[in-house]
Amino acid sequence: MSDQSLRDIHWMLEILQTIDVGLVVINIEYEIQNWNGFMENHSGHRAQKVQNRNLFDVFPELPHTWFCQKVDTVRELNIRAFTTWEQRPYLFRFRTYHPITSTAEYMYQNSMLYPLENTSGEVEYIAIVIFDVTDVATNKLALQQANSELARISRTDALTQLYNRGYWEECLYRELLRCRRHQHTASLILLDVDHFKPVNDTHGHTAGDAVLRHLSRTIRQNVRETDIPGRYGGEEFGIILPETDSPKAFAFAERLRGLIEEEAIQIGDNSVSITVSFGVAELEQNMQTIEDWITRADEALYQSKQSGRNQVTAT
Ligand code: GH3
Ligand code: MG
Ligand code: MG
Repeated sequence: MSDQSLRDIHWMLEILQTIDVGLVVINIEYEIQNWNGFMENHSGHRAQKVQNRNLFDVFPELPHTWFCQKVDTVRELNIRAFTTWEQRPYLFRFRTYHPITSTAEYMYQNSMLYPLENTSGEVEYIAIVIFDVTDVATNKLALQQANSELARISRTDALTQLYNRGYWEECLYRELLRCRRHQHTASLILLDVDHFKPVNDTHGHTAGDAVLRHLSRTIRQNVRETDIPGRYGGEEFGIILPETDSPKAFAFAERLRGLIEEEAIQIGDNSVSITVSFGVAELEQNMQTIEDWITRADEALYQSKQSGRNQVTAT
């Protein structure tokens, strides 16, 4: 070997030792043959200390079956295998110490397995290469979280935290389609606070807001998991009740009406009582659109108002 070649190898080894990428070589018995400075720094084990030790003894958290399957594929097919942090956050559990990515407890890693052949072309060793992708992963996770929070905000009414009208109507549309497809039924309840204007006029708009928040909480606490309440307008709410016929929806509305009537809402030193009028409409064959369905519930609600308020009318 020429001096030049020797020098090249020397440089190469120097680079592998110091590069900011993890490098582990194992034999087919999973015994560690070598690892570089990155591995020493993050694991706290010097290369000499782990030499010939079984990889699973050094890293008990390494998923045994999964990893062996990967290695088998690499060996048998003589191909590389890649694993991203999204498939598996890390191969080796290393604590992070990045000040800017302190949100991540452990280093996120992409990893690559390389087959290493001997002179007769058999795969005798496997090289494991570890990339620290903690910054990329935490940024992406933060972005995903921000996006899902934005999506949540865009469908939520800020005052009541119920679904806003746009999203709630989407839900109603989906329910209509679902019922049509599976020949199921569902009911729609619209409710409107009685004489709410005087509440604002007497106690102030802020107190009015508190009343609406309180009412929303009462609705949320009394609906079933599968029911979908939303804020339809100012002091008007809608509740979608899947798999519920008109008599059952009526009974539910009647119970809710009674609860609201009985409950005095404490706002500062004042106690405010409200009543609510309800309109109930079960989905019918001749309803083509959600507007048809809403109109029927609205007509029933109007009838409740006309007949003296604080009551439930079903179509
Ligand atoms: P009715 O029994 O006929 O429904 O009488 P009402 O006074 O409730 O009806 P109206 O539609 O005349 O008044 C609704 C009031 O609801 C007027 C409006 O100021 C108030 N309102 C609507 N949205 C909000 C809100 O977000 N906060 C507060 N505090 N008031 C609201
Ligand atoms: Mg009203
Ligand atoms: Mg109204």
